[in-house]
Amino acid sequence: YQAKRSGRGIVVVYTREMEEAAKRLTRIEQALRRAVAAGEVEPHFQPIIDLTTRRTVGFETLARWTDRDLGVVSPATFIPIAEERGIIGQLSQLVLRKAVEAARDWPEDLFLSFNLSPSQLVDHNTGLQILAILERTGFNPRRLEIEITETGLMSDPASAEKIVNDLRRMGIRVSLDDFGTGQSSLGRLRDFQFDKLKIDRAFVSSILTDRPSEHIIRAILAMCQGLGMDVVAEGIEEEAQAERLVEFGCAGGQGYLFGKPCDADETRALLRGTGENRRRAAG
Ligand code: C2E
Ligand code: MG
Ligand code: MG
Ligand code: MG
Repeated sequence: YQAKRSGRGIVVVYTREMEEAAKRLTRIEQALRRAVAAGEVEPHFQPIIDLTTRRTVGFETLARWTDRDLGVVSPATFIPIAEERGIIGQLSQLVLRKAVEAARDWPEDLFLSFNLSPSQLVDHNTGLQILAILERTGFNPRRLEIEITETGLMSDPASAEKIVNDLRRMGIRVSLDDFGTGQSSLGRLRDFQFDKLKIDRAFVSSILTDRPSEHIIRAILAMCQGLGMDVVAEGIEEEAQAERLVEFGCAGGQGYLFGKPCDADETRALLRGTGENRRRAAG
């Protein structure tokens, strides 16, 4: 143990484990700063599909980072670190720019969705930064969708509302991610205008085995229909889950059943393949 006096007579005790954890965080932070500066964080893309036709309607951008020494680091690890250590703005701009550059070559009816972090919803530069990337790349804002979580709306709802409204005025659609987990408040659905709601994987994965999950999903679908919001069910892994969701009237889906996140080249090849299949089927 190592004790430190932190002023006013308060003694903080650090254990060896806490010290190791803090060192690891700092190592990841430093490596991440270098990777962002070198442009080494890459967007991967996971298809979002129309559950009835099974056609891809868009892709969600998911950041991927492999460090020379640390190996693959999951976004579940590096996104929160980027948030806490003030790197998220730069990281986000890098990944969005690369994602938009890739999506420019896709068929025009496909949208691109992108996750925003909570801290970006209290940063008034966020809207302008996104706009600058769209203008520089000539990407139609109507093809862009921003995903935000309920947590992102909590710390400063007024600021978040302003940013969300700015984005919507630019023609960007806004969707509420991971719905049903975290601090779900129905009031938020009344106060904010969302274009889409994404039902969290936790409900989807238990839709076949758990009655409460089934009822909750059906209630969410009814609510979205009433409010005029699109819906996507996340984390669909089994055909039977997809079928049940269609039965309940869920239009959109995403999950390993339809495709895992792929890099820009693989996604382009995938789209070229389906394009050829379509032409062949038509001709
Ligand atoms: P999310 O936005 O809810 O993204 C969905 C996550 O579920 C992704 O994890 C995706 O790979 C995973 N997933 C998709 N389908 C399935 C499935 O069928 N089964 C299972 N078990 N998982 C599935 P990933 O890529 O590890 O990302 C985790 C989270 O990190 C994301 O959750 C998002 O909140 C955040 N994130 C990722 N990329 C970015 C980014 O560029 N910016 C920000 N701010 N956050 C990001
Ligand atoms: Mg998301
Ligand atoms: Mg999600
Ligand atoms: Mg999530």
